[in-house]
Amino acid sequence: MRIFDPHIHMTSRTTDDYERMAAAGVRAIVEPAFWLGQPRTSPASFTDYFDSLIGWEPFRAGQFGVRHHATIALNPKEANDPRCRPVLDLLPRYLDKDGVVAVGEIGYDSMTPEEDEAFAAQLALAVAHDLPALVHTPHRDKARGVERSLAVVAESGIEPGRVVLDHLNEVTVKLVRDTGCWLGFSIYPDTKMSPPRMVELLKAYGTERMLVNSAADWGRSDPLLTRATGEAMLAAGFTADDVDRVLWRNPVEFYGQSGRLDLTGVADADGAAGAVGGTFEGNSILRGGS
Ligand SMILES: [Zn+2]
Repeated sequence: MRIFDPHIHMTSRTTDDYERMAAAGVRAIVEPAFWLGQPRTSPASFTDYFDSLIGWEPFRAGQFGVRHHATIALNPKEANDPRCRPVLDLLPRYLDKDGVVAVGEIGYDSMTPEEDEAFAAQLALAVAHDLPALVHTPHRDKARGVERSLAVVAESGIEPGRVVLDHLNEVTVKLVRDTGCWLGFSIYPDTKMSPPRMVELLKAYGTERMLVNSAADWGRSDPLLTRATGEAMLAAGFTADDVDRVLWRNPVEFYGQSGRLDLTGVADADGAAGAVGGTFEGNSILRGGS
């Protein structure tokens, strides 16, 4: 089983995770820019974070044979903080970088006017930079958040096939299915979407434009839930080709629209993950930050 996790925050994970992911078949990932868990206090904090998403983290992933790409944005939560908003002016510089395959995560957290403004501005950036957009949907008041997100997407003029609405569930899937947008599902260990629930949605709605991710970060999450979903699909009678479509070909097709997805040399389903040695600006992953 070859796996492309289209949404995972590896900066907050360990090398043990990379090892287990590679052993489970994860060969490629996309890491969206998101918040820290605590407020950032200046735009400079984003500069270092974005630099690590296109520098150190792809290097670290490469040590385990995992190909790493990133999406860059001011996330919805931080769009409300006046100390963070100036980062919008820094984004164009990052959206031109090779490893950046979309604008994201953008969208709504609490659906404030500030979030409206940042969301629309960043969809315009996606259009201007010819990139897809990754839209986070709020965890509270989800249906209203999805409806409002779809309205903002429609207003922006971005082609729906270049947008994914993420963190969907049984209720919100219906709102997005016929819009032409892609549908993202985050599989969590004990709340929200689980592998069996995901299988039911795939039975009901098919595999087209469906993306499955672990959204693993510094909270309770599990980077192997993509694999668990593939196993649950097989157990439910889906074919290996169906699994490959959902867990590999769909994310490749979606992020491939950036023209920047580079999967050359990535080991195939049965190939051993090819770890690479070396250093990134003089640092290896052999020891911690001492
Ligand atoms: Zn996320």
